[in-house]
Amino acid sequence: MKISNFISKSIFLVSIISVIFVLLVTIFFQYNNFLKESNEIKKTYIKQKKQHLEKEVEKVYNYIEFKEKETNQKLRIELKHKVENAYNIAMIIYEQYKDKKNDDEIKELIVNILKNYSFPNKRNYYYINSNTGRAILFNKKSYLDTYKNIWNMHDSTGEYIIRKQSIIALKQGSGFVKNYFVKPDGKNAKQFPKLSYIKNFEPFNWHIGIGEYLDDEEELVKDEILNYIASIRYDENGYIFLNTINKKALIFNGEKQSPAIEYPNYELLKKQIDASSKKTGGFINYKFKKLTSDQKYEKIAFVKRFEKWGWIIGTGAYIDEIDEIIEQKKLFLKNSVFFQLELGFLFILFIILVIYLISQKTSSLINNHIENFINEFNIATKDLKKINVHNLTYKEFKMLATSLNKILEQRNKDYEKLERYNNIINEHVISSTTNLEGIITDVSQAFCDISGYKKEELIGKTHSIIRHPDIEDSFYKSIWQELSKNNIFKGEIKNRKKDGQSYWVDIIIQPIYEDDKKIGYTAIKHDITDKKRIEEISITDELTKLFNRRYFNKKIEDGIKISKESDKLFCLIMIDIDYFKNYNDTYGHQQGDEALFRISNSLTDYFNSLDNYNFRLGGEEFAVLLFPETKEKALNYANEFREKVKKLNIAHSTSKVSQVVTVSCGIAFLEENMQSKEFYINADKALYKAKESGRDKVCTFN
Ligand code: GH3
Ligand code: MG
Ligand code: MG
Repeated sequence: MKISNFISKSIFLVSIISVIFVLLVTIFFQYNNFLKESNEIKKTYIKQKKQHLEKEVEKVYNYIEFKEKETNQKLRIELKHKVENAYNIAMIIYEQYKDKKNDDEIKELIVNILKNYSFPNKRNYYYINSNTGRAILFNKKSYLDTYKNIWNMHDSTGEYIIRKQSIIALKQGSGFVKNYFVKPDGKNAKQFPKLSYIKNFEPFNWHIGIGEYLDDEEELVKDEILNYIASIRYDENGYIFLNTINKKALIFNGEKQSPAIEYPNYELLKKQIDASSKKTGGFINYKFKKLTSDQKYEKIAFVKRFEKWGWIIGTGAYIDEIDEIIEQKKLFLKNSVFFQLELGFLFILFIILVIYLISQKTSSLINNHIENFINEFNIATKDLKKINVHNLTYKEFKMLATSLNKILEQRNKDYEKLERYNNIINEHVISSTTNLEGIITDVSQAFCDISGYKKEELIGKTHSIIRHPDIEDSFYKSIWQELSKNNIFKGEIKNRKKDGQSYWVDIIIQPIYEDDKKIGYTAIKHDITDKKRIEEISITDELTKLFNRRYFNKKIEDGIKISKESDKLFCLIMIDIDYFKNYNDTYGHQQGDEALFRISNSLTDYFNSLDNYNFRLGGEEFAVLLFPETKEKALNYANEFREKVKKLNIAHSTSKVSQVVTVSCGIAFLEENMQSKEFYINADKALYKAKESGRDKVCTFN
């Protein structure tokens, strides 16, 4: 992967992941808030609604309280005003007639005027009592001519009405007094609460008073209040209900009940009574029908008691409406969350686009700079120069180039050095490379020099081009065997030059690999022709060119080893020229040498086709080491050779066995556990036997 691509992808990925992470976190919090808010909404809404209910009830409560107090106040002012009025009338009459008429006449005038005084409300009337307990004007009737003692009159609470009034009149001059009294229509013996104002009328030791039955006044006020409350509406289903602790419904279903009805659901009323028993009021939950429907719905209401009148004032709200509103609010919230998400999504798309463009730009920028750097680097490496730092833009690349230049400098030096070494190696090391099939792919100059071939003549050929006929197939097989096992082959091999001459090399062949895969072989050779020549000389008899005794000593041991390992019949034939001393003496030493040479050639010729080694052990004595198939065959070989020598027809006049040069042969076969010495002695003994038995003979040791 290109670094630019990697950086661009990384920027892209990291950014996308970050943005998505932020979005997810936002969604998570939004969702959490949504859940929290949903619950909060309900709570808050119910709380608000409750506050509202409480406030509304409180308002009505205050209104009733105010109305009740106001009524009382008004009543007092009115009563006082009326009594003051009556007092003034009585006083005017008294003042006017006190000197003209007697007291009784004046009294009558006053009583008659006040008795017939009618008020617009038709309920009120004046009364007059003496401060000593006599009724003067009593229940709209004059008691001037009858003495009515009401001193001990008391109301239903046991209070002495007249006494109390007289005391106030005498002590304070005037004042209010409350008591319970029957109504003047007399229909009902029940005593009603009545507020009176009395004023002392000094001339006759009277007190004049007027009273108002409080319940009458209250009824009026209550009626007004109920009318007002029944008209209150909050929305299509919101109203004030008003019941009494005496199970009466005054406002039911938002309508004033006139007359009051029995509250239809005692259980619900009980709840209201219980909840309103607290001075501050309380909430109740229940099911109730709506104004607009007959079906019952969950409702919450606040109730408070106006203790004085035993009223339970309440108003409620339907929970389903709350739920509906909450659903609406939730929907609104949900929509707003989705809107935010959509916005967020669009934002992310935009960010992705921007990030993509930035990362592409960054990527191509980095790519360009890296390519530029690589280009500069390639030029530098190809031409064995340094990177041109001035062609680079960024500091990092310049720093990198400076560091690389140090390496390049060293590398260039090393490269030149290597080139020199390469040239030296090429010129002096005989090396060749082949593919796996053994086809030559490269050769060194030294290879060409030693083989006499040109490079073009060698490439594409196999090494058989330089194969020497002396080297047997088995040797080549052993090379391939080693190499096929991926081993290194080491050995000495004789090759043939283009001109037919031979040369020896010490060779190391090893497989070459590319990425752990064998692709061919390389052979490094070392010219050992001279060494081989010395070696050859050291084992060759100069006169006959046969192997000498030194080599015989080595080869007899090798043969014994091979024989033992392969269980082959191994045989030593010792050959000695008969009466050779005489020959020399007769024909001269030089002629003797020639005879030796001819016999040795004959030996080579005869045994050449056999798996054997021929030696001149010394003087006119020869040896043959061979692996015959049978002892008889060995004997035959020896006899045939003996015959062959004879047929050379080298005249030997001083031989005692023939007219020509003859040889005697002794044969020994290697036996089990036999050492070379014994083997040799056995052959020698056989030769001795052949000599002894008349020469020109072949004898075996046993
Ligand atoms: P025999 O049949 O018993 O082997 O008799 P012989 O004379 O061959 O045996 P002997 O060992 O007495 O003599 C060997 C002779 O070989 C002595 C020597 O003159 C001759 N001789 C040894 N080396 C050479 C050589 O290099 N050149 C020549 N011309 N003669 C050699
Ligand atoms: Mg001899
Ligand atoms: Mg001899």
